[in-house]
Amino acid sequence: MKAEELLRQLSLEEKASLCSGRDFWTLKGIERLGIAPVMVTDGPHGLRKQAGASDQLGLNESIAATCFPPACTTACSFDRSLLYKIGEAIGEECLQEQVAVILGPGLNIKRSPLCGRNFEYFSEDPLLSGELAAAIIEGVQSKGVGTSLKHYAANNQETARLVSDSIIDERALRELYLAGFERAVVKAQPWTVMCSYNLINGVYAAENKKLLNDVLRSEWGFAGLVITDWGATVDRVAGLWAGLDLEMPGGDPFHDMQIVQAVQSGALDEKVLDASALRILRLMVKAIETQEKAAGFRYNADAHHALAQKAAGESAVLLQNGILPLPPSASVAVIGAFAKSPRYQGAGSSKIKPTMIDNAWDALIAAGFNAGYAAGYALNGEGDEEALIQEAAALAASKDAALVFAGLPDEYESEGFDRTAMDLPASHNRLIEAVAAANPNTAVILQLGSPVRLPWRDKVPTILAAYLGGQGGGKALADIISGAINPGGKLPETWPLALEDTPCCRYFGGRRTEYRESIFSGYRYYRSAGKAVAFPFGHGLSYASFSYSGLCLRQNPGGEIEAAFTLTNTGKCGGAEAPQLYVSKPASRVYRPETELREFTKVFLHSGESKTITFKLERRAFSYYHPAAAAWTAEGGDYEIRIGASSEDIRLRGTVSIEGDGRETVQKPATPFPYSDIKAAAQDGKFTVDDAAFEALLGRPLAEKAPAGFSINSTLRDIQGTPEGSAVYAQVKQSMEIMMGGNSDIQKMFEAMLDDMPLRMLPMMSRNQMSFPMLEELIASLNNSAR
Ligand code: BGC
Repeated sequence: MKAEELLRQLSLEEKASLCSGRDFWTLKGIERLGIAPVMVTDGPHGLRKQAGASDQLGLNESIAATCFPPACTTACSFDRSLLYKIGEAIGEECLQEQVAVILGPGLNIKRSPLCGRNFEYFSEDPLLSGELAAAIIEGVQSKGVGTSLKHYAANNQETARLVSDSIIDERALRELYLAGFERAVVKAQPWTVMCSYNLINGVYAAENKKLLNDVLRSEWGFAGLVITDWGATVDRVAGLWAGLDLEMPGGDPFHDMQIVQAVQSGALDEKVLDASALRILRLMVKAIETQEKAAGFRYNADAHHALAQKAAGESAVLLQNGILPLPPSASVAVIGAFAKSPRYQGAGSSKIKPTMIDNAWDALIAAGFNAGYAAGYALNGEGDEEALIQEAAALAASKDAALVFAGLPDEYESEGFDRTAMDLPASHNRLIEAVAAANPNTAVILQLGSPVRLPWRDKVPTILAAYLGGQGGGKALADIISGAINPGGKLPETWPLALEDTPCCRYFGGRRTEYRESIFSGYRYYRSAGKAVAFPFGHGLSYASFSYSGLCLRQNPGGEIEAAFTLTNTGKCGGAEAPQLYVSKPASRVYRPETELREFTKVFLHSGESKTITFKLERRAFSYYHPAAAAWTAEGGDYEIRIGASSEDIRLRGTVSIEGDGRETVQKPATPFPYSDIKAAAQDGKFTVDDAAFEALLGRPLAEKAPAGFSINSTLRDIQGTPEGSAVYAQVKQSMEIMMGGNSDIQKMFEAMLDDMPLRMLPMMSRNQMSFPMLEELIASLNNSAR
């Protein structure tokens, strides 16, 4: 049946009730019309479907599914077709498990290496993020299964994530924090977009008309439905007006009743409700059609495991290399507990229960290496650290080469909190130093979701950033070590030398997060400021070598620029390269980053083989967002086209001339320091922007209005000062502890989130034992006693 026909048969109450979930993971059906409830579950890098009834937090045991490498890793592939294939495979797993929508991909920009959830995101660059997200969306949706592009928008930290306010100027918002979403939406039309918990410039994402109805729907043509992140609803009726369709998880009819009352009182136009209900019905109709077609479908778990291995192999990034590959005849010291118990995904709502797990140790032995093993450190941080290090160093001294598997343990990177430093555990750093001193042929293999400081970098010939390899990562690493796989990954983010070098260093975290670095984030900053980095954006070596030649630039009649060049594998083995195109505007009248990625691809070439690569650039590649004109604007004049193997390793350059569109005069005279002189602002250590400059950029004062009294957005910390509030706090803490039942990484996540948990989350957290009406009473009582 058509969604439009179904809508016509619904009462006001039924329409309102469709706008919230039935429980943690399902949308309500309409029994009397034969519409069954449909299921949505996490993602993003595999399926996390809870088998029985969901627990309160929806985080416990789920069915086994293929754990593909998370986005931090697959982004290193720079390979759209790989992401598409992973999407298809995830889509098939959804078909078997009758899941209508997978909650991913996540494409928030990596603003700081500290963000606890960076492992779930792709890149510091919106083009790369958007293209790869689009590819995985297209792959999943090709199977008739929906996706949920998240977390929209400007959710770039975990600290206070439920209530933090991202203060961002319009250019940074458009050019960085929305641009990836825009690309993924326009290219791939995800079935759903998930709004984030946070506020953006003072307005919660869940009731942000500008972001939802104006930008996402009207400007980008999004046709799907907007769902809340779990518990992100603020004012339900305001949310509907703003373009928010579905509240998740739901289960308490209170908000549905508010919708009904609002329509009855005239506070909500019924047409607005109809539009949301129709979008929800359309999704349900599509999902039911798919499920009917896919009845009895089984996916091939071995084939998916092989794809997970391939993805990990294609994505590992060879940062520097002096000793790999090693012949299996070599004797090797395999050091580090991660070699046997890999860290292969992050913690939190994306944690998949894998169908199987490879480990590097078994795979190296199977490949025929003459290997010895030393744990080097204890996974739980206990044990005699010094003895473990000594044992490892002694083993290293007795072998031809040493392979140290180090990285960030689970408790360092999770949803719910951010890291506080860019360092590996001290024991890992000490281990690497000791092993490198014992054997100069040391390769360090890093398993982590974000960059770390590398204090021993000059003491080891080889560093391989494996990121988080998913369930097939162990075998992929052994294949890279033996040369069976030639690594071709590139960094989707800069690895800075130190945390102090990151442009948002002074402005990251906290309940109010001022994005004072504006558009100068990631490589856009390091290149503009002339700051040295450990490894630049786009960097990654291969066992082969590639030459770039014969750049030919041409302007097509429609204004499109074509850049063609020849890429040749000049090495002795086959390998993949990811050439990148950057655009730079010398002598710009508008402040802008020194260079910006505008195209990329991934090509496999046999030894000696050449291919012509052609990149096409539309006008947008030369445009910045003009806030006053509210339009993308191309400044007229010459632009440099750079083709490179990284953002710093530029191999070919050429110039094109672009006609301006007449709007471009505006920016510079009004440009406040330091945006027109990033080098000066970055001179002595930490990048700094004073209040006046940031206010000028924002076009409004920074002063905050303190909210009067308590509301659903007050946090447990806010209410702690009152006797009733402190009792509520203690009660919530206690019930969380019981619910988590000793699951340590979830426990750490919730402990970190507790203080900044807004009262509006309590119904969800208590599984509606505290209903919304009870919450309203609590707030009234808190306000009374505060008077
Ligand atoms: C996370 C989402 C996730 C949802 C459901 C939220 O806390 O932010 O990414 O999809 O929970 O588990």
